[in-house]
Amino acid sequence: MKYIVGNFKMNGDSSMMIDWIQKFSCSSKNKIIIAPPQPYLNFIDKLPNNVFMAAQDVSPYQDGAYTGQVSAKMLYDLKVSYCIIGHSERREYVKETDDQIYQKFCQLNECSITPIICVGESQEIREKNTHENFVVNQLEKYTDINEELIFAYEPIWAIGTGKIPTISDIGQMINVIKDNVSSNAKVLYGGSVNAKNASNLLAIDNLDGLLVGGASLNPVEFANIAQS
Ligand code: PEP
Repeated sequence: MKYIVGNFKMNGDSSMMIDWIQKFSCSSKNKIIIAPPQPYLNFIDKLPNNVFMAAQDVSPYQDGAYTGQVSAKMLYDLKVSYCIIGHSERREYVKETDDQIYQKFCQLNECSITPIICVGESQEIREKNTHENFVVNQLEKYTDINEELIFAYEPIWAIGTGKIPTISDIGQMINVIKDNVSSNAKVLYGGSVNAKNASNLLAIDNLDGLLVGGASLNPVEFANIAQS
């Protein structure tokens, strides 16, 4: 059983959500999770039984005067079972730090929501060949955590670009991540995954699944990925 996670990012509206749910059909044994924008998390009740809901982000705070933020307790209230944190777009556009991401992890942990923690290096870091150290540093706070944890290795230069690392480079990074966290942790790959490359990627030893951005917006393609 692998995890196949779709991150819709800031795309879609309620009619797209209805259309997506109607057209998505998949009998795979894989665990299928979608992360629509926050206003559409309440479509959870309309999802097929084999599809789980994730949020794309959560507040690092429990509650209070944090206008615009959504707490882990609220996600729990909606029966959301997973939450992406530390996506590179949030690290870049709202300058999220590893400390804030860890605070978010703690909030999710208190509400028994499984975090999907994104890590990964920029093109510049990859060119300097320091990507392994960079990612190990991003994992620092999670090395001794035994609760259910999912990491997504997403090299920033592979997100939305059509470029992906070689299969052996991905395999190597998955091993580096697994060597630095608890043996219970799952590690996914994300970055330009589509229906054509999914089966090669899913064949990587030690890889526990895929985080899919753009290609998850198409329910037929996402079902093909989930069935790869
Ligand atoms: C992502 O942003 O998490 C992602 C993997 O995007 P894409 O599949 O579009 O590269």
